[in-house]
Formats: sequence, C-alpha cells, structure tokens
Amino acid sequence: MVKIILALVTTLFITAAQANVKLYIFDCGHIYFDDVSNFGLTNEDTDVRELFVPCYLIDHPDGKMIWDAGLPLDMVGPRQSDATSWYETSIIEQLSDIGIEPGDIDFAAYSHFHYDHTGAANAFSDATLLIQETEYIAAFHEPESNPVFRPPLYSELVDSTKILLQGDHDVFGDGSVVILSAPGHTPGHQTLKLELESFGPLILSGDLYHFEASRMLRRTPVFNTDPEETLRSMNKVEVIRQESGATFWIEHSLELANSLNLSPYYYE
Ligand SMILES: [Zn+2]
Repeated sequence: MVKIILALVTTLFITAAQANVKLYIFDCGHIYFDDVSNFGLTNEDTDVRELFVPCYLIDHPDGKMIWDAGLPLDMVGPRQSDATSWYETSIIEQLSDIGIEPGDIDFAAYSHFHYDHTGAANAFSDATLLIQETEYIAAFHEPESNPVFRPPLYSELVDSTKILLQGDHDVFGDGSVVILSAPGHTPGHQTLKLELESFGPLILSGDLYHFEASRMLRRTPVFNTDPEETLRSMNKVEVIRQESGATFWIEHSLELANSLNLSPYYYE
C-alpha cells in the first residue's frame, strides 16, 4: 500500500513538474549556401539553400537551460545585402525581452560545439555545462582536429562547472528534459527530447540532420567526424521518436522555423 501511494505521489509530482516546462525558440541567425554538396546532398536533392540557426530556452520549475547558442555574437547587426550569414538580434537581447539575464541560466547544453551552436556560449559560463565527455575532449583538448569548432567562442567555459556525460542524461530527473547522445556529426553530438504537457513529446535534432532531404535520404555531411556512427545515431533517435510518438524538429529547417511561434511565445 505504501508503495502504491509512493508511486502515486511520484506520478503526481512528475505530472505537475511536466506541466510547467516551457520551450522558447529564438532566431539566432541564418546561413545561406549556393551549393549543398558539403552536406552529402546534390543540389538536385533539395532546393533549400538557407538554414535557420536557432537558440532555445527550456524553462523547467527546477531550473532554466539553454540548448544551443546560435551564431557568434560579433556577427549581430543589420543584414548586409551580399551577406551569406546574418544575425539581427542577439540571444542576450532576446532573453532580456522576456526578463531573463544570462546569470539566470542554470544549465547550458549544446547539441555540439560547432561555431553556429556555441556563438554565445561565453555568456553562459556561470551555468553548469552538460557535455558528453567525448565532445569535451574534442572541444577543449583537440580543437585543431575539429575545424568547425571555434575555441574563442567558448574559452570562458574552461572554468565552468561541468557534468561530463557518457550517454543519455535526464536533466531534471523527471523525464521531461532528456539529452540523447547521438555522436557522429561531432564526437559527442547530442539531441534533446522534451515532454511538454500540452504539446507532447518533442525531439530537437541538433545537427543529426541539416535538411529534410538529409533525413529522407539518410545522407551525412562530408565534415562529420564519423559517418557510420552518425547513421547509428540516426537509427537510435528514429526508434526513440517512433516509440514515443514525438514530434521531430530539424533545428536548421527554415521552413519549420517559419511555421513556429518564436519567443516571446512559448510551447508547453
Ligand atoms: Zn554542426
């Protein structure tokens, strides 16, 4: 009987916690490509040439977490007519618009340490960094073998409190925010699974795919650190998506971003 009551209390607690998880999405830049062959696609496989660069805030009753931190902050400014990348309003300003300062962030997790996902990382150096141990080694000890990494963007995280992960990680212990290890794009690439009370389960892709066509055709970018491992990660995440019935968002999809409500709107 005691066990049943405990189970019931736990269930109620988890339900209550999940009820309050909010997901905010921010426009943290755009990147344009004339040619998509570096992504393992031909220019006929897709007519998409512009990628959206998102940042996310997950607001959980037990803490706030940043997931991906956009293009470098020094790119912020009015869009130039011939620019192939642009970033108009910084994530710092967009957070401020909803009353949040960088110091309010408890956890920072990045799908991976490429420059278009860690652009504002130094601003979140007071947050606890959740990083796969393999990504930590790549980013902090072997950045020269990872050319899309830009160490100055995250140099201030050297002294941050870190939790080095070796696989999946339930951030708040209630199943509502779970990091899913999905290596291959980089040594410690990861995706994020959320359980939102109204919206339902949702998976944020990181760079498991950049384009819808990458997912349909199972193509991997030429700059991935391990193509075979990427395919295994695709299989893993697709199984979790199917079993959970989660909605799947390709983070870089501009078409998707244009269909979503960005901050100050939030999903819950
Ligand atoms: Zn990437």
